[in-house]
Amino acid sequence: MDDEDLEEIENTLEVVIMAKDMSPYEAAKQLIRSAGRRLGTNPEITEWLKYPQRELTVNFPVRMDDGSIKVFTGYRVQHSFALGPCKGGIRYHPDVTLDEMRALAMLMTMKCAVVNIPYGGAKGGVVCDPKEMSQRELERLTRRYASEISILIGPEKDIPAPDVNTGVQTMAWIMDTYSLLKGYSVQGVVTGKPINIGGALGRREATGRGVMLCTKEALEHLDMDVEGATIAVQGFGKVGSWAARLLQRIGCKIVAIGDISGYIYNQDGIDTEDLCSYAEGHDDVIRGYPKADEISREKFFSLDLDVLIPAALEDQITMENAAKIRAKIVCEGANNPTTPEANDVLNAGGVFVVPDILANAGGVTVSYFEWVQDLQQHFWTESEVNDKLRDVMTCAFGEVLTRAQREGVDMRTGAYMLAVDKVAEAIRVRGIFP
Ligand code: NAD
Repeated sequence: MDDEDLEEIENTLEVVIMAKDMSPYEAAKQLIRSAGRRLGTNPEITEWLKYPQRELTVNFPVRMDDGSIKVFTGYRVQHSFALGPCKGGIRYHPDVTLDEMRALAMLMTMKCAVVNIPYGGAKGGVVCDPKEMSQRELERLTRRYASEISILIGPEKDIPAPDVNTGVQTMAWIMDTYSLLKGYSVQGVVTGKPINIGGALGRREATGRGVMLCTKEALEHLDMDVEGATIAVQGFGKVGSWAARLLQRIGCKIVAIGDISGYIYNQDGIDTEDLCSYAEGHDDVIRGYPKADEISREKFFSLDLDVLIPAALEDQITMENAAKIRAKIVCEGANNPTTPEANDVLNAGGVFVVPDILANAGGVTVSYFEWVQDLQQHFWTESEVNDKLRDVMTCAFGEVLTRAQREGVDMRTGAYMLAVDKVAEAIRVRGIFP
């Protein structure tokens, strides 16, 4: 059997695997492998990129409010140091697994490479249900987890940030714990911190701003009007609510929004600022908003739209709803919102997909700006941050589009090709030690 036969068998196996539900880790490996193959990258380097460089599992005790002691499991995975220190969020969720951390760390490596920032990818998480824990328990859990992973993190090694169920307060606790272990204040050990201890202006809305910029670029690329473009956003949290508000500010019409409590629609447009005020007074959810009609999730995904923005969770566009999507553009605010099979259906239907590693990279970009400011102890104005973010996002969009057009591939494949090329080239030029 020669190499071509082997490759054919491998391709067939890939198709068989893709026909089933692929885990995000398998999907990430598959995207890297196929980008490497298209690029003609040395397969030994591509093989290395399919695995994280370092993985740490920690099991640690936390004293609960009732005096009992509970043991928690946490992870920190560092995917690649090829382009610089590692960067990635920390997630608190009952479903956190090592495989999920691996997939998300890989995604971070690719995301940083796409937007040209000098980081590799990392991800961390603790298996816990923060909704069942008090603030004091969460603080003790965070501080103990931070001290356990302190052997891996640091401003020149690995810089965590917020992710699902963690936020500015979590980052403040991690920064404080790490600083106490070192004996001096180390602002650059985390990003997404409160402004008064080294956080960046503009970080809060950065991911949504990046989604807005990518949506605008996509509309312009397809010769569609930005003014009056009809948009639906799934997720009205940190990413979705800012994407919706900023898109409305540039003239788009947000006709539908969904969150964990349900989906709402108004063909004349929803006032997103007004909806934010409503959600603030209603447990942070949109259900019951009086100026829009309630619709089903199924209807939401089949609306006749210009742009659909999934900005809630992974695996929202699947084989169940992909063929019904009538939006001309899908701009992925969430990580992994589209399954590989559904992505093929969207491509076949001519939907222009702006992939997650490009569309939601605004957050990590401003995190990088925060780290740069912390290291220099020189802080920028909000408009400086926003202007620099706009330059990074529009340049990255242009690079991905050019690569996709040149290679005759979709934007996701183009983005992975761009990223794998950069990371593999860094590995090649640095060489293999020893
Ligand atoms: P968030 O917790 O602030 O908001 C999540 C939103 O999704 C909420 O409105 C929630 O109601 C909604 N939601 C949850 N479950 C749902 C369900 N089953 N159906 C419909 N809606 C549901 O989270 P976020 O920070 O906005 O993150 C959203 C996504 O974006 C995640 O995939 C995250 O990994 C990704 N992301 C976030 C950032 C960031 O800076 N926050 C950066 C890059 C990627």
